Amino acid sequence: MNAADVPAREAMEFDVVVVGAGPAGLAAAIRLKQLSPDKSVVVVEKGSEVGAHILSGAVVDPIGLDRLIPEWRGEDTPIKTAVTEDRFYVLSSSTALRLPNFLLPPLMNNHGNFVVSLGDVCRYLARKAEALGVEIYPGFAAAELLFENGAVAGVATGDMGIGKDGHHKAGFARGMELRAKYTLIAEGARGSLAKVLIERFGLAQDRQPQKFGIGLKELWQVAPEQFHSGLVQHTMGWPLDNKTGGGSFLYHFGDNLVAVGFVVHLNYQNPYLSPFEEFQHFKTHPLVRGTFAGGTRICYGARALTEGGWQSVPKLVFRGGALIGCAAGFMNVPRIKGSHNAILSGILAADHVAAALGEGRTHDELTNYETAWRASPIGRDLWRVRNAKPLWSKLGTLFGVALGGLDMWTNTLGFSVLGTLRHGKPDWATLKPAAQCHPIAYPKPDGRLTFDRLSSVYLSNTNHEEDQSVHLLVRDPSLQKSSEHDVYAGPSARYCPAGVYEWVEEAGQERYVINAQNCVHCKTCDIKDPNQNITWVPPEGGGGPNYPNM
Ligand SMILES: Cc1cc2nc3c(=O)[nH]c(=O)nc-3n(C[C@H](O)[C@H](O)[C@H](O)COP(=O)(O)OP(=O)(O)OC[C@H]3O[C@@H](n4cnc5c(N)ncnc54)[C@H](O)[C@@H]3O)c2cc1C
Ligand code: SF4
Repeated sequence: MNAADVPAREAMEFDVVVVGAGPAGLAAAIRLKQLSPDKSVVVVEKGSEVGAHILSGAVVDPIGLDRLIPEWRGEDTPIKTAVTEDRFYVLSSSTALRLPNFLLPPLMNNHGNFVVSLGDVCRYLARKAEALGVEIYPGFAAAELLFENGAVAGVATGDMGIGKDGHHKAGFARGMELRAKYTLIAEGARGSLAKVLIERFGLAQDRQPQKFGIGLKELWQVAPEQFHSGLVQHTMGWPLDNKTGGGSFLYHFGDNLVAVGFVVHLNYQNPYLSPFEEFQHFKTHPLVRGTFAGGTRICYGARALTEGGWQSVPKLVFRGGALIGCAAGFMNVPRIKGSHNAILSGILAADHVAAALGEGRTHDELTNYETAWRASPIGRDLWRVRNAKPLWSKLGTLFGVALGGLDMWTNTLGFSVLGTLRHGKPDWATLKPAAQCHPIAYPKPDGRLTFDRLSSVYLSNTNHEEDQSVHLLVRDPSLQKSSEHDVYAGPSARYCPAGVYEWVEEAGQERYVINAQNCVHCKTCDIKDPNQNITWVPPEGGGGPNYPNM
């Protein structure tokens, strides 16, 4: 078939369309059906199944779940491991200084929280949603927003079966239009539709730029003698230098499982830095390396997280819908937690959608959701920690985190002498030219404790139909050469956790190679490219990682 004979898309009508089956989207869908059982709610999810694209720590604060499903503690859920011990260390290359728990602001305490696979929690939430009558379509990416009279009127899923060169293959099928009175965007950090909406409706005007981190994670089955059920351990410092924000997490849960991960703030300056290698290097520290002795690495993945907090949350509403969860930026950085706010924001938005539908309204602005969130538990959670990230960025890890801790303490007592600090530049603008930086020599992987990228991506079970249009769009290829390569020494080859980008020399010319089939959908390239020259768009639905329990 050629492009001119493309048939029209079929359309289905719903009361509410939700984009993304993460904790935010599923919570919204559940709440809507609890409040308005007669309304039709559909959730589209780009992963091959619910949970396939979910990557988190995760230590979950159950405040959202308690509100959404008060009976969950009496049910068979994947939320089984209560936190038993909380440890926080500052690392140098050979030492680990443990901070006494009483020094940490009470909001950092994990008592009463649970260690989980967030993917499994989403699978549980999906079962609850379906039991209430929510329709969930995994394997369908919302590729396009539908507009009617200037308002969002739903989404269209992507066409399937378009080859790399744009031709329609034998199995070509048009996407579906899912039309709705209200559309909730729950795509998580750096959502591709959220980005379009923020731009089109000017939702980020008068806000601080959104800030991001990249989180890399491995799941290990450890030897029984290394396992301490419910132990939650965080570190900061080594191997990152004092100017580079980030740190590690290590959570023991389930059946001898340890989730180990490393977050690097994406405002780092040295283009030679590789978050992946920093993570591998971190695992060799004497504090943690023993945990993995005799263990097996069973999964790997990566995902961006939002870090801007209170001052970066955009306007949440536009005509016909709203942003919820990490698409809105509700992550609490010092607590490394966002799933509780994702659920709470799903509930809050659903309350206002249900009220609007009950009044017979459609396609208007859910103004009350916008005004409600700052006074809600989400707003209170983010307000107290609002200066932690700007202080860390401005003063470096040692002073910044110490002063940030003090500010969180005073905020807990009800005041701050610092007011609300600004974030400064967006993350794409913080790289220095390579000529002003030193290359970083990382140790070679040993294949037992530390690994290379490609054997890691293998463990993410990533799969994309190979003959499809590239979903990583480079707006101006010549700029990629003249700036990304010539000025910044090709940072995409290092910040991408999946080895998607390479500069390859062929006949004396540098060629930019994009191995799109390896992409784990972390969105880092869309955030960190120094010229904002790369745009991530959804590939064919169902493509991407297949995380069993991340
Ligand atoms: C490394 C790491 C560690 C973390 N640790 C913790 C922790 O310990 N505790 C905690 O509470 N939080 C933690 N977080 C944060 C937490 O994971 C997020 O706050 C939470 O997942 C946000 O939920 P969400 O529903 O908004 O988005 P997500 O969980 O990102 O879910 C979004 C869903 O939408 C789908 N989607 C996206 N775009 C489309 C589209 N266009 N069409 C169809 N589907 C789409 C995605 O595939 C995904 O399934 C961590 C995050 C990371 C990255
Ligand atoms: S290509 Fe971009 S979104 Fe995909 S894994 Fe690499 S950095 Fe992440």
